[in-house]
Amino acid sequence: AVLVVRRVRRRTRWNRVLGVLKEFEEACSTSVGRLRQVVDAMAVEMHAGLASEGGSKLKMSLSFVQKLPSGNERGIYYAVDIGGTNFRVLRVQLGGKRSAIVGCDAERQSIPQELMTSTSEDLFDFITSSLKQFIEKEGRGSELLPGRRRDLGFTFSFPVKQTSASSGHLIKWTKGFRIEDLVGRDVAECLQQAVNKKGLDVRVSALVNDTVGTLTLGHYHDPDTVAGVIIGTGTNACYLEGMDAIIKCQGLLRTSGVMVINMEWGNFWSSHLPRTSYDVDLDADSPNPNDQGFEKMISGMYLGEIARRVILRMAQESNVFGPVSPGLSMPFNLRTPLMSVMHEDESPDLREVARILDDTLGIPDVPLKVRRLVVKVCDIVTRRAARLAAAGIVGILKKIGRDGSGGITNGRTRGSSDSNMRRTVVAIEGALYTNYRSFREYLNEALVEILGEDIAQHVTLQVTKDGSGVGAALLAACHSSNIVDRDG
Ligand code: BGC
Ligand code: MG
Repeated sequence: AVLVVRRVRRRTRWNRVLGVLKEFEEACSTSVGRLRQVVDAMAVEMHAGLASEGGSKLKMSLSFVQKLPSGNERGIYYAVDIGGTNFRVLRVQLGGKRSAIVGCDAERQSIPQELMTSTSEDLFDFITSSLKQFIEKEGRGSELLPGRRRDLGFTFSFPVKQTSASSGHLIKWTKGFRIEDLVGRDVAECLQQAVNKKGLDVRVSALVNDTVGTLTLGHYHDPDTVAGVIIGTGTNACYLEGMDAIIKCQGLLRTSGVMVINMEWGNFWSSHLPRTSYDVDLDADSPNPNDQGFEKMISGMYLGEIARRVILRMAQESNVFGPVSPGLSMPFNLRTPLMSVMHEDESPDLREVARILDDTLGIPDVPLKVRRLVVKVCDIVTRRAARLAAAGIVGILKKIGRDGSGGITNGRTRGSSDSNMRRTVVAIEGALYTNYRSFREYLNEALVEILGEDIAQHVTLQVTKDGSGVGAALLAACHSSNIVDRDG
């Protein structure tokens, strides 16, 4: 009888684990119907954010970039790029013909954890020290001509209210950064002051969000590029908008031409998003509750953490993972890159899954059957994220009339399989998209599902390399004080 009771109890617990999984999977559902609702909500919020300041959770920030590089720019330009896991300094040499990036050197280092919550003095000292070393290492031939200064693009990938193409103040931090004394200040001015203090002959000529840098580089190589998307530690998008549609700045700026709009889509919210109890808890425990809801379902900072929370729940509901380990209970202990390794483990006995569960989460000897459930959790988390990102992208296409869905052109209704649909390129970068094959495949697949084959064939996602930094150097060239160079 004892044996029977034990068996029943064990079976019940296994059922509970499956129950947790099933419930999670259902709550994460992203049917194409639901994705289309997200697309519509995104387009609606974009309108609202453009209509008035604070009209939507989408900031739809003005970038003041109204002209993208012509391709005639020449000379040497610099960029510093901060905003996620890595920090970069770059030097870009432009040859004066489209796509003629003659040379590009970059140095990358990971941002020390303690810097993320330090002071603005420490932050800018870190940036300018790296810049100084980088410039001092330059070979002969890159000395400045008399009367010239080095132009630098500053990629700062946090929500900023720009006041010009080269100035703007920090609205709030995201992605775990928290340097309180910088909030509300002009970050370009702070960098310029720190640069001066170091005695560097550098002018901060452009202040750029990473999405805007990505769009700029994408557009430099391919003028059909209309948007830039980042899916890395955080997520965001920008796109080219007609000035006449930016209602909130009418009266302030001319109403013809275009401007790049930094959507700050990480803060997008809609009741159509498939939110689970794990998302609710993650948000409540985060340093920025009620902020960046879309980002928290999509970007690299959070995916591993969502998966950890689900696995923890399974461990609490049963004994399939043995006693709950301290490693599994520790917030953010499962980083997304490791989660992707588990997800894509192709060994028949899921050896990598076992290794990571043991080494990272402190759960030894997990049976194969249970490892499979862990892979399933990773799959659900990633699939939802990728499909929501796809819906975001289609939302942009819809807003600018590139989703093939209608609008009237020359009195003629555009059909949904319009053969006149223009080629549309979206520049994309970020480690999650470039390094995580399943994520990429799910995103691409969802794009086709939402748009349909006929329309999707006109849409290209183009990966750019270091666009967030190189694009900032290109924009620094556009706004150079050395007019000769700027105009080629
Ligand atoms: C920031 C954006 C940035 C994105 C990608 C978000 O957390 O708010 O400004 O573009 O991350 O780096
Ligand atoms: Mg970055």
